[in-house]
Amino acid sequence: MPRAVVAIGGNSLITDSKHRTVRDQYLAAAETDHHIAAMVAGGWDIVITHGNGPQVGFILRRSDLARHELHEVPLDVCVADTQGAIGYLLQQNLLKDFRRLGIDKSVATVVTQVEVASDDSAFTTPTKPIGSFLTDAEARDRHEREGWDVAEDADRGWRRVVASPAPVRIVEIDVIRHLLDGGFVVIAAGGGGIPVVADEVGDLTGVPAVIDKDHASALLANDIGAELLLISTSVEQVALDYGTSDQRFVTDLSLADAKRYLAEGRHFKAGSMKPKIAAVIDFLEGGGRRAIITTPGNIESALVGDAGTHITA
Ligand code: ADP
Ligand code: MG
Repeated sequence: MPRAVVAIGGNSLITDSKHRTVRDQYLAAAETDHHIAAMVAGGWDIVITHGNGPQVGFILRRSDLARHELHEVPLDVCVADTQGAIGYLLQQNLLKDFRRLGIDKSVATVVTQVEVASDDSAFTTPTKPIGSFLTDAEARDRHEREGWDVAEDADRGWRRVVASPAPVRIVEIDVIRHLLDGGFVVIAAGGGGIPVVADEVGDLTGVPAVIDKDHASALLANDIGAELLLISTSVEQVALDYGTSDQRFVTDLSLADAKRYLAEGRHFKAGSMKPKIAAVIDFLEGGGRRAIITTPGNIESALVGDAGTHITA
């Protein structure tokens, strides 16, 4: 069976700011799952990965608001919490689809640690804003008492910033491979994985950082020998000169084109499309055959070449 990694955007589980409840996320997960179930019915062996930006934000906010009464939740544990909760929503909905389609398969979510290098240069200049906005005084206090890195976010106040280091090793990769070999659908590396560093004897410790889910998905896809990396996001196709009057959507890109456009710098926005294109390049250079970027609703038509942006080695 051909293998694919399907990377679901954390934002695509929150359709808009008025639909953020757990029930809303459940319904959005159900919608995405219908399309993934169709892939399974079509013969793909699949590992699902997902983002968690908004969901981690909610947990941090709750933790913040309850500070006077309850312990705070460290960032690595927030990521673990979102892996469990989002995995659960995806798992339950997929099982419904499988029953309806007569597919005899089970789904497992793997709480996944991803090792990062403690000397990754991202740790010297943290850039990824997370959690609530802070006043000047709160920002100073958190910096002094708790060592938080903080940065001013436009005119909206201060926010904590953390490092976004590169994923180096998926700790649970053998477990994921065994589950795939056993015919299970696997949900793994949620939110890019729980960032951990290894000490001299190899023991792991969580670190306050976030790993980009697109990069972690590419690493995972190469590790399981996937031929396809399918990135399911909020746009049907990738655009060149995005957001300008020259904007044009592209259907096919070669690996060389993707590298050239990425190097040109102006096409893909940092923090959204740029990491996806960079991850696709890593995947194709690491042995992958093709990548597709499209919306959940276009997955089936993209697989037959009728939608999405296709990048091939
Ligand atoms: P996800 O949660 O799926 O990772 P992101 O918001 O990180 O979603 O990335 C998808 C977004 O990238 C799109 O909604 C779009 O606004 C933005 N984007 C930036 N550059 C481009 C581009 N060149 N082509 C298409 N979309 C782009
Ligand atoms: Mg993203």
